[in-house]
Amino acid sequence: MDQSSPIPLDKLIVCTHCDAVFTLERPQVGQRAICARCGTVLITPRRKAGLQIIAVSFAITILIIAATVFPFLSISAAGTTNSVSILDAALAFSDGPLVALALTTAALIIFVPLARVLLTIYVLVPIVLDRPPARGSTQAFRLAEALRPWSMAEIFVLGCAVALIKISDLADVAFGPAFWMFSGLVVLVVVQDNFLCRWSVWKSLDKTQTS
Ligand SMILES: [Zn+2]
Repeated sequence: MDQSSPIPLDKLIVCTHCDAVFTLERPQVGQRAICARCGTVLITPRRKAGLQIIAVSFAITILIIAATVFPFLSISAAGTTNSVSILDAALAFSDGPLVALALTTAALIIFVPLARVLLTIYVLVPIVLDRPPARGSTQAFRLAEALRPWSMAEIFVLGCAVALIKISDLADVAFGPAFWMFSGLVVLVVVQDNFLCRWSVWKSLDKTQTS
């Protein structure tokens, strides 16, 4: 950008992926603004998106909590059956050198996704209700975005499916309710991520803070 450019900063938008700078043109509801260089979606305004995202976030919260305590899988071999929840699996390593691994796994598949949806609810509820943002909304939303790459529920589900297919020759393996909850969870997280227009959220936080 030319330093003497007369275009004010809030009329510019920078691609979050490739750093290309564009002059801002607000798309109509239902349209999207896409980076001309790399195709990253920059703005996707949707009517009532906030409410839908909050609803999906609540569904995700319930699913995460339920998926943690319900049996994830059951294994039958030599006449005995064992069902295990994710909590059991994490606690199984809680003594010994694997405790760090157990804690990290639990954090990546349960606590990080949970923290992200709770932060999203915290930020979005006041925006949807047309209230001033809750205290620390900016930091909360920034944290939720920073945690995004560390939310690994889908990798976990995929890994489990592959592992179970491999051991299904040795024992009778059945997926428990928590596996299906996790699968649903993965879909909902993708839906939520695609519905959330980050630009609109930042804009709302920005607008209410400066005025
Ligand atoms: Zn780009």
